[in-house]
Amino acid sequence: MEDPLKILREKRAKDFQYESGRIFSSMCTVPLRETLKAYIDFMETNALDPKIFPSVKELEREAVAEAGKLFSNPNATGYITSGGTESNIVALWIARELSGKKEVLAPVSVHYSVEKACALLGLKFIPTPLGEDHRADVEAMKEKMGPKTAAIVGTAGTTSLGLVDPIEEMAGIAGDRKCFFHVDASFGGFVLPLMNYPKKWDFTLPQVSSIAADPHKMGMVPIPAGLLLFRRKRWLRVLERNVAYLGTKTQTLLGTRPGASVAATWVAFKLLEKRKKAIERCLELTKKLARGIQRIETLDLITKPELNIVAFKSEVLKIQSIEKALERRGWIVSRTELPAGIRLVIMPHHSPSHIRSFLRDLKECVRELLSR
Ligand code: PLP
Repeated sequence: MEDPLKILREKRAKDFQYESGRIFSSMCTVPLRETLKAYIDFMETNALDPKIFPSVKELEREAVAEAGKLFSNPNATGYITSGGTESNIVALWIARELSGKKEVLAPVSVHYSVEKACALLGLKFIPTPLGEDHRADVEAMKEKMGPKTAAIVGTAGTTSLGLVDPIEEMAGIAGDRKCFFHVDASFGGFVLPLMNYPKKWDFTLPQVSSIAADPHKMGMVPIPAGLLLFRRKRWLRVLERNVAYLGTKTQTLLGTRPGASVAATWVAFKLLEKRKKAIERCLELTKKLARGIQRIETLDLITKPELNIVAFKSEVLKIQSIEKALERRGWIVSRTELPAGIRLVIMPHHSPSHIRSFLRDLKECVRELLSR
């Protein structure tokens, strides 16, 4: 019989590899060596079972405390989730339980998991328009808020363009109505605090109720790892269930949960300097890439990049044709919808030479398509 592990290796070798620098569509990346090591060391641990694995409980408490400090509320509570989707589901679940209301308002740029969460929780998802700057139109959102609003959601680092909604202004309207305000910083949460972002977006704003931030994106932790934080400790208690057969209680969506993700996230908080350098590099490369794209005829940036995402459009060429031409040259990119464009996420697996060769190929693609 052929060695099954050999078959696995062969299959895996056919995937695109982050190290090639050719993946521009992913918000995940190669984990840091130390977070991977922590993950492997805790591989068989179960965060549901503190009797067997007290270390995981302790590490989770410490990681949540670190995250609380990072997001300006050392008293925040929360837990390590499987990623942004779970965090958004649980945040809205709590908003529903606390308010007894059934409507959620979010700008159309919000990640699709928010709509999914609403469907799951029996909540009505009400999308609100964007302003000309592609960020939430706060006045339009305010008009749609009413007595049934359970929560509003803002994004700090939108999936499509990497933009931060006007969180402070949104906090204002949430405060006026005493409404739960969830900030989805699944992508931006591990970038904004390390780049001295000038605007307020976290628990500094007293109206921000919860924050999602994913270690498995810019935190450089292996998949799966998300973080969900709440302003008040008692809020998470509304989800508490007895796990009679283990003699414990849980406040999480999942039952059995990977302690490996907890350990890896804990280590990521200890490696702040290393991650800061990686993030600075990504932001520097983002600027280079944006400048290079601006110089290519018929291409226009959709917006000035705020985080490490560049998106461009073309008035002349079809976006699909550009995507296909890039794919023929071995680049994996993704698309934006509003407006139609190409989206490039610049991650720690990218180097200056990847950016240079991408720009060279992009220029060639445009030339080829214009000459058709
Ligand atoms: N929120 C935002 C802003 C995202 O960009 C993403 C994923 O890209 C998610 C939530 C969902 O995260 P996950 O795929 O880890 O569940």
